[in-house]
Amino acid sequence: MTLSKSASTSTIGVKEFKERLESKLGRHFEESVEEASKEDVFAALVSIVQDGYSSKWRRTRIAETTNNHKQVYYFSIEFLPGTLLKSNLLNLGWLDTAKEALAEYGLDLDEIASAEPDMALGNGGLGRLAAAFMDSLASTGYAGNGNGIRYKYGLFKQKFVNGYQRELPNDWLKQGDYWEVRRESKSVPVYFGGHVNMVDDHGWMTPQYEGCDVVRAVPYDVALVGYHNGVTNTLRLWDAEIAPEDELKYPSIEDRRKVEDLTSILYPDDSSYEGKLLRLKQEYFFVSAGLQSILNNFIKDYGEEELKNLPKYVAVHINDTHPAMCVAELMRLLVDRERMDWDEAWEVTQKVMSYTNHTIMAEAMEKWDLGMFGQLLPRLIEIIQEIDRRYVLSLEGKVSGDVIQRTRIIQNNQVHMAHLAIIGSHSVNGVAALHTQLLETEVLKDFYLLFPDRFNNKTNGITLRRWIQLANPELAKLLDDTIGTKWRFNSKEMLKFEKYYHDTKVLAKLQAIKLDNKKKLAKVIKDRTGVTVDPEAIFDVQVKRLHAYKRQTLKLLHVLKLYQDLKAGIDHPKRVVIFGAIAAPSYVFAKQVIKVINAVADLVNNDPAIKGKLKVVFLENYNVSLAEQIIPAADLSEQISTTTKEASGTSNMKLMANGALTVATMDGANIEIKDAVGEENIFAFGLDKDEVYSYYANHNYHPRDLYESDPVLKKAVDALIDGTIPNCAGEGRALYDNFLGDNEQFLVLADFEAYLKAQKEAEKTWANKRQWAQMSLVNIAHSERFDADKTIERYAKEIWHLDPVEIDAEKAR
Ligand SMILES: *Cc1c(COP(=O)(O)O)cnc(C)c1O
Repeated sequence: MTLSKSASTSTIGVKEFKERLESKLGRHFEESVEEASKEDVFAALVSIVQDGYSSKWRRTRIAETTNNHKQVYYFSIEFLPGTLLKSNLLNLGWLDTAKEALAEYGLDLDEIASAEPDMALGNGGLGRLAAAFMDSLASTGYAGNGNGIRYKYGLFKQKFVNGYQRELPNDWLKQGDYWEVRRESKSVPVYFGGHVNMVDDHGWMTPQYEGCDVVRAVPYDVALVGYHNGVTNTLRLWDAEIAPEDELKYPSIEDRRKVEDLTSILYPDDSSYEGKLLRLKQEYFFVSAGLQSILNNFIKDYGEEELKNLPKYVAVHINDTHPAMCVAELMRLLVDRERMDWDEAWEVTQKVMSYTNHTIMAEAMEKWDLGMFGQLLPRLIEIIQEIDRRYVLSLEGKVSGDVIQRTRIIQNNQVHMAHLAIIGSHSVNGVAALHTQLLETEVLKDFYLLFPDRFNNKTNGITLRRWIQLANPELAKLLDDTIGTKWRFNSKEMLKFEKYYHDTKVLAKLQAIKLDNKKKLAKVIKDRTGVTVDPEAIFDVQVKRLHAYKRQTLKLLHVLKLYQDLKAGIDHPKRVVIFGAIAAPSYVFAKQVIKVINAVADLVNNDPAIKGKLKVVFLENYNVSLAEQIIPAADLSEQISTTTKEASGTSNMKLMANGALTVATMDGANIEIKDAVGEENIFAFGLDKDEVYSYYANHNYHPRDLYESDPVLKKAVDALIDGTIPNCAGEGRALYDNFLGDNEQFLVLADFEAYLKAQKEAEKTWANKRQWAQMSLVNIAHSERFDADKTIERYAKEIWHLDPVEIDAEKAR
């Protein structure tokens, strides 16, 4: 950035803010602030914020094109921003002003902000990362745009009925999205089905489409406001509508709905695919619409003759394999529409594309049936076949036939999306050091040997602005009061907080802030579940999607063991175990785990014999807003996935930034957290990657031996089937059988003993409040390492080759 950060923030005083608020409410609702409903005040605030960024939005676009700026387009099938009001106020520099202005009417900003529905266009970590990157791109001053789908129904709403998960539709657009702007004039057509004939048009073989369906893709743009820098980028979300040329094809409302259903629902699972055809349609829809829109803009700004230099201006990022079709679609547009020579188009495509892999789990490696693919996308499959044919040709005689067969895109009548993404990109990255290493040595080893230069690591990051400044304002203030306010612009400054390691006052303040946050969460827990919890207890938190590999089951066994101890008169410090987790609707095992945890909560919370020493709380409908309430109140962060299975994790980072101490397997980014804070400031335990792989290779995991030889383990596991836990005999049995099967690949029982030891260590530390606060302080200081702004700087420099946008500081006002 060329402008100084503070210079670019247009300050607005409390008085002016109040005038704007009164005028908005007067104009739109003909009411005074005092009369207005929460929803109306919220709408007025949104409108004030929009006025605040609209000129910046325009100027960013102008600055980007007039300076020939290279832009990145981040294609992701999920975005999980949560709510935007407070975050936009913060980034504009208006948060405190807004708070004060509202307070003068006796209104509370947090209360007003709670009128905003979560924008939940994602399932979990993948979507949250995409949203964090959007915030960081704008905040670091890069020209970056998101490209995704405007799902009518976001991630379903989770309810517990009798302890079972029920799914309700999440009609988040009911009142209309406050932040989006429909851009009718930027609509593009997307074609499905039919037949393709290649015809000679003045010497160029051109496809003629026959009998296909046309869907009109209409973009809705959401502004992405940079932090105090005058930059405003765009998240473009596509909606499906009937194309004007196809109006007559869909005479009834029901027929029309079928077309519009294309963007109705977010698939409630990021690792297995239901309603396959519709999912495939969604993928092509936002890929094709996004790339057409990029090329249309590009040609308008720079002209067709510049297309050969596209990589100088445009980077397209493929976030996980869902947008992998970008490779083939860009080839289609360049060759068929722009009549670029194949080889030249291929060079352009590879230079434009880059890809992030998010998992090593085999079942999540996306593949499509060739026949189905070809029927839905007859021209695209020809392009993919041609890419595949040329790929094979390029390697024949150079490497073994086996390697070629294992790495080609089309195998056994399936299209391998990861292979398409890797072959068509110049960069392939994993999301934590261990994950990237496993990609190189195990999962994508063949590719790594073929194209070592393409592989690189980019450890995930989080938006510290949201997780500290917004979610934990008291902690933010303590940082200001100790290390000054520079950390709000440059997270490296947070390391200075470590200097207060021996400062009794600061440590006491840190404890007081945590206690305060715990009191607030205790109230939320009481309101939502009726359970009373003691804010002085250890708040032990596991929040993340429910999945076997994340091992909520290991936490459950620990809870059972604690309960059994307390019943037997063995004492433990008071503890509140807090879960938040959504299960995919079709994921039977995950739903059984939910039921058992809820049943155990019922048992434990209502047993007077344990005198309230242990409470178990499972909060419904875990989402970003709930995370913002839970995370600042956490003492312990449970990051206990089977080593090698969690690519990175990001809730581990959010929790550490809020001073929680991590109980961690040496998986994903946990390893890097340990590197950052030192082994004395984390509770590390469990099998390492070699031990896990050795079990897999030698098929020598025999959990029944562990169970028979460890009476403590046996007792905890037996509780699942001996009637201890009421009303979940079937589910308890399912978990029991799962734990004891030789094919239990998540090795829950193998880590049990080590996990108990780590928890014992945590209890011992808890007894020393000063030491706990010191460890907490070190964790906060070192969370700077996971600032998504820094992650984005690395993507921008090493993968996308971007320069920051230069905006005239005056005009940015
Ligand atoms: C951060 C976040 C996640 C990711 O959590 P992991 O523990 O990394 O899987 C999922 N859901 C929400 C709402 C989040 O904020």
